[in-house]
Amino acid sequence: MLLPWTDNAITKVLNVKQQRFVMRITLSAIKADIGGIGGHTRPSDELIGAVKRSVEESKDLLIDFYVGYTGDDVHIIMSHTHKVDDRNIHKLAWNAFNEGTKVAKDQGLYGAGQDLLKDSFSGNVKGMGPGVAEIEMEERTSEVFCIFAADKTEPGAFNFPLWRLFVDARSNTGLLINEKLAAGVTFRIMDVVGGQIADLKMWQDKPELEAALMYPGRYVIHSVLSNDGDQIVSASTDRLHNIAGTYVGKDDPIAIVRTQKDFPATEETGSAFNDPHFVAGNTRGSHHMPLMPVKLNSAASLNYSLPIVSCLVFSMHAGKFTGPLDGFGTPDWDLQRWMAAERAMIIRNQGFIHPATLVPEELEYNKGYEARMSKLQGKFKLPSS
Ligand code: MG
Ligand code: MG
Repeated sequence: MLLPWTDNAITKVLNVKQQRFVMRITLSAIKADIGGIGGHTRPSDELIGAVKRSVEESKDLLIDFYVGYTGDDVHIIMSHTHKVDDRNIHKLAWNAFNEGTKVAKDQGLYGAGQDLLKDSFSGNVKGMGPGVAEIEMEERTSEVFCIFAADKTEPGAFNFPLWRLFVDARSNTGLLINEKLAAGVTFRIMDVVGGQIADLKMWQDKPELEAALMYPGRYVIHSVLSNDGDQIVSASTDRLHNIAGTYVGKDDPIAIVRTQKDFPATEETGSAFNDPHFVAGNTRGSHHMPLMPVKLNSAASLNYSLPIVSCLVFSMHAGKFTGPLDGFGTPDWDLQRWMAAERAMIIRNQGFIHPATLVPEELEYNKGYEARMSKLQGKFKLPSS
C-alpha cells in the first residue's frame, strides 16, 4: 500500500512479519489567552473564527487540526509530520493567535493578546507566552489520546491526577493488571524556577517523585515515558512570570495523554480527575479552589473563577482526527461539577485567610500586597517595657 505522503514527510517502516507501514506523527497542542468577553470568561465566536481561518490557510503543513477553547484559553490541536519544536508549525500557531488578537482588539475584548508577550516571532512559541504540549510518536493501529485543557490555574494542577493515573493503584487498577504499567513509568519533572529536568523512574524513585509533586507551584510533570521509551504524556510547563520577568497571568496548562493498549485506558485517564482537588489560580490568580471538570468549549465561571479542565478525546488514523468526543460531557460528571462547586464555597467562605489565598510570593498581583505590607511595617514598634 502506498500512502499519499512524500518519503521525507513520512517514515515508512515495513514490518516483514506484519506487513504494515508505521507512520511517525507529531501531535502539537498549542494554547493562548488572547481575550475574553467581559473579563477572563471565554473568547468570542468571531475570535475563534479568525483563529480557525488562519490555521486553515496553512493547512498544507498539517494533516489535521481542531480549534476550541476552555475558559479564556484558545487551543489549536494539530497533527503533522514535522516533529516537535518545528519552526513552521509554531509560526502557524503564532500567526493564528495574532489574527485572533486583531479581532479581540476590534471587539474591545478583555486582555486582548495577553499571552502574546513578544512583538515578533523568533522561531518557537515556547518562551513567547503560548503553552505547548507536543509528542512525536509511532502511530499505533488504533491511536487514541486525550487533551486536557485547563483554565484559571497553573501547570502543577496536573500533578495530582497524573500521580493518580500512573502511581496510585487505588485510582487505577490498570497498574496491577497491565504488565507494561506494572513495570513502572518514568516521570520527567521540571523545576519551574531553574528550568531543570529530573527523570524519576518508578518504582525506585517513588518517594522522590512524591516529594516533588507535593509542591505543584515549583515542581511540575513535564512528560511521562513508558518502560519501552514511548512518550505517553506531554504537558506545558512554561511559567509566564518567569518568561516576562513579572507575573502577567496564570499559565493555564494543556496536556496530551495517550491512552489504551500498553498505556492507561481512556476511562482510567478521565477518572483521575473525578475528585476535584484544590489548585492555585482563580480570581486574580491568588487563591486555592477545586479543579472542576467541564464540558468542551465552556466559559470560565463567574463564581470567583473556579479552575476548570476539559477533556478532548480523539481517535487518530494516518494523522486524521475523529473527534473530539467530550470526555467530561456525560451526565455522571455533573456530580463532580457539584462537588467542585460545593468545595469552592467551603474554601471561599474563609475569604482572604490562608490557605484560601496563596502565599505572598505566589500571588499574581503581589505589588498591591507589598504596598499594604510596607504600610503595615511602618506601624510596627517594639512593645515598651
Ligand atoms: Mg484572560
Ligand atoms: Mg486562562
